[in-house]
Amino acid sequence: MDTHIWPITAAITGDGHLEIGGCDTVVLAAERGTPLYLLDAATFRTNCRTYKHAFARHYPGDVSVHYASKALLNTGIAQLLHAEDMALDVVSGGELWVALRAGFPAARIHLHGNAKPRAELEQALAAGIGNIVVDTLDELVLLAILTSNQAKPQSILLRIAPGVAADTHAHIQTGQADSKFGLPLGQLDAAAAILQDAPGLRLRGLHCHLGSQLFDPAPYPRAIDVLLDAAVRLRDQHGIVCDEISPGGGLGVAYTVDQAAPDIDLFAATICRAVVEGCEQRRFPLPTLVVEPGRSIVARAGVALYSVLARKHVAAETQPTTDNQQLTTTYLHIDGGMADNIRPALYGATYTALLANHANTKPDTRVHVSGRYCESGDVLLRDVLLPSAIPGDLLAVAVAGAYTLSMASNYNLVPRPALLLVEQGQTQIMQRRETYEDLVRRDSEIQ
Ligand code: PLP
Repeated sequence: MDTHIWPITAAITGDGHLEIGGCDTVVLAAERGTPLYLLDAATFRTNCRTYKHAFARHYPGDVSVHYASKALLNTGIAQLLHAEDMALDVVSGGELWVALRAGFPAARIHLHGNAKPRAELEQALAAGIGNIVVDTLDELVLLAILTSNQAKPQSILLRIAPGVAADTHAHIQTGQADSKFGLPLGQLDAAAAILQDAPGLRLRGLHCHLGSQLFDPAPYPRAIDVLLDAAVRLRDQHGIVCDEISPGGGLGVAYTVDQAAPDIDLFAATICRAVVEGCEQRRFPLPTLVVEPGRSIVARAGVALYSVLARKHVAAETQPTTDNQQLTTTYLHIDGGMADNIRPALYGATYTALLANHANTKPDTRVHVSGRYCESGDVLLRDVLLPSAIPGDLLAVAVAGAYTLSMASNYNLVPRPALLLVEQGQTQIMQRRETYEDLVRRDSEIQ
């Protein structure tokens, strides 16, 4: 088993079963049904602590580590984060509502979004949210109006498009100059002018986010330089002093064995050094540093379990690209797919899998793992080696915690899977499996 891919508690039992969080996955699947998502509490908590310790060690000023809810949020996750003394990023009224309902303090939440509906801005203001991260001049004008009678000014950050293109898939690149996200640098003076006339707003600082699944920390110092230059310009030309800076989240994770998991400590060291040196060079007081990891906290904690339903062998139309002489393509049809994990269909994401009921068996068969949904693109894993599988076998997909269930849909009206928290041999339901009743909860009969 590749230990940097699976949760830190992953083990193989004497029966050759995959065990996560001290729980036998074959037993869990038999009891709870599949598809079934597991969240390993130990991996999740360890990642939160690793982030907090790394930034505390490398940064001489105040640091706040915000978990990016969009990777995966529900009541239990908000509770775990609160217990770990993390802060939170939300990107919608729904994420904000769930976090608040779970008891997460509003003051430790930031609201993001390039297009925030007015009602969600009002919801955030009413909740007493820590920061609103403003994305456009129009939003800034609206917020100035909404806060004009507020006794205590609302703290905001301006999200800047730093013009730094990070090396990742175009769908998850966000820091380039023509991105839909963030204020172009050329609009900074206009933003300052709006702020001069907005007594209900206080500009705390500047934010950017370069993209997701980044392996190389090199673009971060470039983006931090852009933010610090902008902060100096706001101070020198407009008398606005920023005391918070955020280069966003985005650290990648290893999904396949050939990928090395990027090091959180190196990422922290690179960012902290860039802020400290950048401030020294510009004689700028050290701001509070905010980082917003999502994927690198929750991805590896998640494991998806699927049942193999059927096999299909077809003559391969193209020669195999590997040294293996197989001339047929084998599809392993499973009971989940693109509706619980859209990433392979959306941007060609790759994953690692094993047969959870034969976790010790040497993989010898090259297969495509095909989802159950009515799209040819619903292939969860392409061209992967697994032990020869038969219907009833249990497939476990690693690194399934981030941007899977949070992007899940009811395509083909299939109920969404359950999510179980596993810890020291115990399980807790974080989200129950949807029922058919759930599928019609919003429906009304028409006349
Ligand atoms: N912050 C912002 C503003 C984002 O848009 C995102 C993701 O897109 C994140 C943080 C989290 O990124 P990741 O999950 O890659 O760490």
